[in-house]
Amino acid sequence: MSLTPPSRLSAVLVGSGLGGLLALAPLLWAQLRNPWFMDQAGAWLLLVVFPCGLLGALVGLLLTRWLGRLPAAVGLACLLAGWASSPVVGTVWPRPAEVDGLKLLVMGIDGATFDLVDSMQGRLPALEGLAESGVRADLQAAEPMFSPPLWTTISTGKTPEQHGVHGFNVHASGCQAARFWEIMESEGLSTGVYKWLVSYPPQELSAFQVPAWLAPATETWPAELSFVKEIELSRRMKRKQVQATRGNVALVLDGLAHGFRFGTIAAAVRFTLTEKVRGPDPERAHRDGQLIRVMMDRDVFVKLLHEHQPEVATFTDYATDAIGHRFWKYHQPELFGEVPPEQVQRWGDTLERAYLQADDVLGELLALLPDDARVVVVSDHGFEALLNDDSGMFFAPRTERLRAMLEQRVGSVEVVKLGHKVVVTPTGDDIELDRERIETLLEGLVQASTGEPFYRWEAVVDDPRSVGLTLRDEMVTAQRLESDTVAGEPLGEFVHLTEAYSGMHERDGIFLAAGPGIARGVSIDPMTHLDVTPTLLTLVDLPPAIDMAGVVPDAMFERFPALGEPPASYDGLVATRKLVGGQDGVNEEQLRALGYIE
Ligand SMILES: [Zn+2]
Repeated sequence: MSLTPPSRLSAVLVGSGLGGLLALAPLLWAQLRNPWFMDQAGAWLLLVVFPCGLLGALVGLLLTRWLGRLPAAVGLACLLAGWASSPVVGTVWPRPAEVDGLKLLVMGIDGATFDLVDSMQGRLPALEGLAESGVRADLQAAEPMFSPPLWTTISTGKTPEQHGVHGFNVHASGCQAARFWEIMESEGLSTGVYKWLVSYPPQELSAFQVPAWLAPATETWPAELSFVKEIELSRRMKRKQVQATRGNVALVLDGLAHGFRFGTIAAAVRFTLTEKVRGPDPERAHRDGQLIRVMMDRDVFVKLLHEHQPEVATFTDYATDAIGHRFWKYHQPELFGEVPPEQVQRWGDTLERAYLQADDVLGELLALLPDDARVVVVSDHGFEALLNDDSGMFFAPRTERLRAMLEQRVGSVEVVKLGHKVVVTPTGDDIELDRERIETLLEGLVQASTGEPFYRWEAVVDDPRSVGLTLRDEMVTAQRLESDTVAGEPLGEFVHLTEAYSGMHERDGIFLAAGPGIARGVSIDPMTHLDVTPTLLTLVDLPPAIDMAGVVPDAMFERFPALGEPPASYDGLVATRKLVGGQDGVNEEQLRALGYIE
């Protein structure tokens, strides 16, 4: 009997199949820790199976004497089975479906506006579906439109005067009113809060609490979630400033065990490589950084829901706001003077991508809700183009010099930029006296070319402590910047030309609610932030407190729920709040990146 000579083709096929089979090992390792890991079978095939198969083919070639004895057909079967094994296993891997005990899901979409949602009709199935099956209302924000106090008003049903959270330099410990999740916890509901603004330091809730972008440090509840904040803060700060001492790989593995999916990790790796290979590009880094952060948050939140089974859970997406500030001029270039067409070509869809992503996340979360759950979507304010006024130039206030003058002559103040405006808030004890001193200072800041004070100032409507400043003369040009002065100092100390920010907060945010008992397909009158907490409490059958000024719209319900006797106030709960750790300060680099401070 004569043996057929070993075939190289068979050997390569078998070797490659065995190589492909190798990719099963890391996949099983990941899937056992995180059943959601495999979300992009095609990318896994390309990035993991293919290189493994190539390596296997080379090894097979070296082992031709043995492997080459198999018929080519067997080799081909081996190749297909080996390559297909991990994508197939990853795709059919069982994942928990519904979160059975969930009664109420609240999704925040920072800065979302119906103007954009409606203009994208047909492309945002989750948001449109909610409006069709539930209630829709404009949600009106109060001045000043800073996200931290706005989200705090939404979560307490109290005004900034009452809850005490003003401006940006704020901590959860400074909130003098009970948040809706604290009220719900006190009534026996387990809650999980993912990145609600002003939730640093985090508090011990039944399920979880991960602070949002303002947090200066990495504490979370439970502590094992701190990798989320470590990843965020390590990109912005020098590592030694943060408790994060772990390397990127350790953080990613931690993230993987807590829900990071393959597609998210691949996107983060691609982002890092692109930065290295193609060099820094602020627009690209801003876009990709924001979108990838939402992917990570979604991954972790979905796994947390299944692990902790909260009865009430919240999740907030900030990419819509951060991208709105920087990319609005590409979204509506016709409103702006000169936006280069190639830039519009390149970045024109970025803002819509942020909305598509938010809709996608919402859709995934809706699929997890049991039939008897209710869902609410809110934004803290709307958004609009920040138009360049008379001059046709993009300008923004500069605040460092002004702040120094204020600190010297008035004392402790917070100075925040909002588009073309500056908001000054004294933080000392005697607000009246401080305000007088602020006004005296402003009167003396005379612009040489006009002979008038540089700023126009007025009390901020809903926050009488603060003074809102606008430029009296908005003709800011390069030539003026060179020659003009304010109180003898160059104009350039107080204002500069920049195109960095082209979108700004606007009053009308969004409110959507759907679920059992909620009216279907109804648009109701505009609501205010004060109405939200009473509404959320009603949605879990708890009575709003008498000291909450907001109202729950009747029209929201098919039949208004029967609630218990309302308490005078829930704010006694503030004293029982258990916060975890807490470093001073806020994440100033993030504030700078969003353009609020310098
Ligand atoms: Zn914003």
